[in-house]
Amino acid sequence: MDRAIGSIAILGGGTAGWMAAAVLAQVLRGTGTSITLVESADIPTVGVGEATIPPIVDFLRLLEIDQAEFMVATEGTFKLGIRFDDWTTPGERYWHPFGTFGPTIDRRPFHNMWHRLRAAGDDPRVEAYSLSAALGDAGRMAFADPRAGGVGPSGGLRHALHFDAGLVARFLRTWSERRGVTRLERKVEGAVLRDDGFVEALALKGGGHLAADLFIDCSGFRGVLIEEALKTGYEDWSRWLPCDRAVAGLTARDPNPPPFTQAAARPAGWRWRIPLRHRTGNGYVYSSAHVGDDEALADLAREAGPLLSEPRFLRFKGGRRKAFWSRNVVALGLASGFLEPLESTSIHFVTSGLMKLLDHFPDKDFDPANIAAYNAALIAEYEAARDFIVLHYQPTRRDEPFWRERAAAIPDTLAERLELYRGTGRIPFRPGELFTDLSWFYVLEGMGVRPAAYDPLVNFSNLAETRAGLVGWRGRVAQGVAEAATHEAVLDAIAARARPAA
Ligand SMILES: Cc1cc2nc3c(=O)[nH]c(=O)nc-3n(C[C@H](O)[C@H](O)[C@H](O)COP(=O)(O)OP(=O)(O)OC[C@H]3O[C@@H](n4cnc5c(N)ncnc54)[C@H](O)[C@@H]3O)c2cc1C
Repeated sequence: MDRAIGSIAILGGGTAGWMAAAVLAQVLRGTGTSITLVESADIPTVGVGEATIPPIVDFLRLLEIDQAEFMVATEGTFKLGIRFDDWTTPGERYWHPFGTFGPTIDRRPFHNMWHRLRAAGDDPRVEAYSLSAALGDAGRMAFADPRAGGVGPSGGLRHALHFDAGLVARFLRTWSERRGVTRLERKVEGAVLRDDGFVEALALKGGGHLAADLFIDCSGFRGVLIEEALKTGYEDWSRWLPCDRAVAGLTARDPNPPPFTQAAARPAGWRWRIPLRHRTGNGYVYSSAHVGDDEALADLAREAGPLLSEPRFLRFKGGRRKAFWSRNVVALGLASGFLEPLESTSIHFVTSGLMKLLDHFPDKDFDPANIAAYNAALIAEYEAARDFIVLHYQPTRRDEPFWRERAAAIPDTLAERLELYRGTGRIPFRPGELFTDLSWFYVLEGMGVRPAAYDPLVNFSNLAETRAGLVGWRGRVAQGVAEAATHEAVLDAIAARARPAA
């Protein structure tokens, strides 16, 4: 008997649902597997996820989507990292830039050499070693130089995108429908379960069912299948991630959009600013225990400038489903969990969940060991990202109650990393983790966490040579900035090139 998955139903037409439809349509093309996406116009999408991280470029590449065409269709801009304003104390800022930076000598990580120079009395500004950060500060844009083989300041550049989430869903919908995905505009009222607890079909409002072998739950926070039907359970992380609300609003386009996301600390949370071609997205992510909705909105309007749209309030709870995949249901996007969008991780976890689903693609037996392996891999990645986000609140000199309380509550796994770093300067990086040791270093240094020691092997290398290596690197960063075009000019050039093709 044929055990191959013959039909897939995706519940939800937000960013997650259409990303899932597109990837599955691409990978299963020619197999005869049917893919149906159900969405309801009565249930709006969240739609505010508009900042990404570099794996989005790999996602487009997998789908063979031309980046320029995608950017023009989604009013996209480039992103070289995140600039954190006022996190340690009002007036101070630091960068979490993308890409690799800083030389390594004898496999010793760059940050250890940087600590050595500092201990020797130098005062090297950490941003000066990252071409991404330096370009961002200058409002310029450049791409990885393919001739550099991934080495050097320009070889290590990586970029991500900002885009209009509504336009992304529209783009991916057209793309998926052209490749055979069927879209059903119906409200799902629940699931019909088999005796063994697997989902047999979706019950559609107005009558009728949609049966499938595999179900992808992209229904948003409610988790219509993974939670309401299968009662998988939610691991609540609000003790570490107390922000539970956001208010979002649009402001006018910035004629010189910066090539980065801005995350500015506020008294009871933080504010994002995401520049697009046609407008600017803003939002205040806050803890309702520390500020009321009206005050949060007033804060956003004051900081972001006149809002052009009705403010949108959103509620959430930081955490994750106890399992991302249960029986024949795989949850993606907001149905699978939520980390506050400080490091733009949500859309990435849709991609990551999809890539892991391809790596663990089931047959109709739904081998429990296969499902367990998928869950273990994704949970490990998710929890490491959670720790990285909580790190941004450690320690701070801000004195509001929200900030004092956040600095006091951290997961044990993060406490262990911090202890190791504080004592030795070492940052463990485990395979499969999203954020590298360089990302951790930038945030640790940005937040003013300084180690008592650094890698002793670094002391065996010649100090003058190390210093010369780092000075040379800084010079190449400065040269890279001087040679780069403005972000706006790069966007104009892309629009001019893509329009005839589109
Ligand atoms: C304040 C905030 C800011 C964010 N910022 C970022 C960011 O900068 N970067 C980032 O990567 N992520 C961000 N995110 C997360 C991002 O918005 C989501 O990961 C992304 O939009 C995917 O959402 P989704 O598709 O899972 O759910 P949704 O957008 O909620 O879509 C749910 C879909 O399911 C359908 N549906 C639900 N129930 C039913 C039903 N019963 N019958 C039929 N259809 C149904 C709805 O019609 C809809 O199409 C942010 C989230 C929030 C809350």
